[in-house]
Order: sequence, then structure tokens, then C-alpha cells
Amino acid sequence: MSTIFSKIINREIPADIVYETDNILAFKDINPQAPVHILIIPKIEIPKVTDIKGKEHAELLGEMFDAANHLAKEMGIAEDGFRLVFNCGNNGGQEVYHLHMHLLGGRQMKWPPG
Ligand code: 5GP
Repeated sequence: MSTIFSKIINREIPADIVYETDNILAFKDINPQAPVHILIIPKIEIPKVTDIKGKEHAELLGEMFDAANHLAKEMGIAEDGFRLVFNCGNNGGQEVYHLHMHLLGGRQMKWPPG
């Protein structure tokens, strides 16, 4: 089922888009939890981590990590470090069922996460 992220991909609702390729899109989170908070998503609809098929999606996932590294450098957080998060399902705290990688940085992260 399509989510609000499909509407962002299709430009039906606005977002602060910071990176795009044929296969992925990255935009600023509407409710940032850190000075840098970007969502990196595939353009195809994969609802959640448990829907990932390693062989089928390997290249796509690689592209998402390349985008995270590229954006971390561009945003000036690569050197100090950052956090990448995939929330999966109810207990994982997932709200939008379109796979997304959170890129968080610009402050000291804590562990354990809430
Ligand atoms: P989840 O909890 O599913 O891992 O994360 C979903 C994220 O999407 C949240 O951090 C939330 O703030 C963000 N989000 C939800 N709706 C929108 C939207 O319409 N635009 C943007 N830019 N971010 C959104």
C-alpha cells in the first residue's frame, strides 16, 4: 500500500529533497531529531526491512549506503560520526511503511536508544 513517501517521490506533496538518483530519493525529515536528519528511501515500494530480499535488493541497498556517505560528507558530519537507523515494525517504532534509512548527525548520539 502506498504511503506519504510515494507522494513525495511523485511530487504530489513537497519535501526538502537533498539527493536523487533514478532509484533513490533523500529528503529532510519533517520532524528532525538531530541537527542533520535525512531520510533516504528507495523509489520502489518496499514496506519494511523484513521485505528486503538480499539478492534482489543488494544494489539498491548499496546505493542507499553510498547516498548516506555522500550526504554525511556534504553535511559536514562524516568526520565526527553519525547514526544510520532502520526502524522495523511496531516494536521498532516504524511509522511510515515505506523502507527508509534515517541519517542522523550533528550531535552526540546516546546509547541505548529509546
Ligand atoms: P519511522 O518512525 O517510520 O522510522 O520514521 C518516519 C519518519 O518520517 C519520521 O521521522 C517522520 O518525522 C518522517 N515523516 C513523516 N511524514 C513526513 C512527511 O510528510 N515529510 C517528511 N519530510 N518527513 C515525514
